[in-house]
Amino acid sequence: MMCNDKDIITLKPIGVIKSDFASPDSVPIIGGNAVIEVFPEYKRGLLRIEENSHLWLQMWFHEADRSLLSTVPGKVNSNLPEYGVFSIRAVGRPNPVALSLVRLERVENNLLYVSGLDAIDGTFVLDIKPYYEQEIVFSPSTPYIRPLKREMRQEIFIKQAMLHHQEKCAGLLLGVRMALIADDHFGHLNSKDLKVTVNGPRCLADVLQGLSNARLSNPPRFRFTATDGIGQSIWEKGEKRLTITAKQAVTDRESLDMEDDRLFSIDFFE
Ligand SMILES: [Zn+2]
Repeated sequence: MMCNDKDIITLKPIGVIKSDFASPDSVPIIGGNAVIEVFPEYKRGLLRIEENSHLWLQMWFHEADRSLLSTVPGKVNSNLPEYGVFSIRAVGRPNPVALSLVRLERVENNLLYVSGLDAIDGTFVLDIKPYYEQEIVFSPSTPYIRPLKREMRQEIFIKQAMLHHQEKCAGLLLGVRMALIADDHFGHLNSKDLKVTVNGPRCLADVLQGLSNARLSNPPRFRFTATDGIGQSIWEKGEKRLTITAKQAVTDRESLDMEDDRLFSIDFFE
């Protein structure tokens, strides 16, 4: 069935994004801080919104290419294959409705202060919805849109680990660095036949479970023993086995930038 003029839908923005990002290229891949200015006539719709820590935003990316039906996620990695726009989170699409999960930091009158938003200044907001726990799929199957640059992979892992673990502790930084090394050897950490064993602090185990999406059963991919050591993770796939043992703690930005060999002893068997 073809759509005719009477099927055209009209949407009225309920607010606008205020951020420091003027162009799409200036927006970090993990998003940044922004303010959503909800127009005064919709303020009543924000009643008790502060009871939510995370929100879904639907926005209209007015500058997007609406003729696009397939594309290579080239901003992340130009070596990736082509995907249909409905199969990935490409900006260009027939109806450029953007979906963004943000953390609600505080509410002031009709202003929502959020973090983790990947939209430019002046973007219109179509809708705001809370993010509910019952909607969380812990271990979904997804294509691996693997960034070519290791620094970008590290940024994405930090974001993913923060969403899961919710504090930027030494265990989180250590886990992110271990996950990067495992990603170098095995690729997608959410692979059903990649098994993860963690020996060390609980924070490290929690972070590596969040980054690998390894569950304790169905299928059994995750094992953990709490110890007093700095931390060790063992990654196994078929005959391949990667053992990463921490030599020192990763406590701050400086140690996060250290070479792998200074932080870990790494043993790869294949
Ligand atoms: Zn922690």
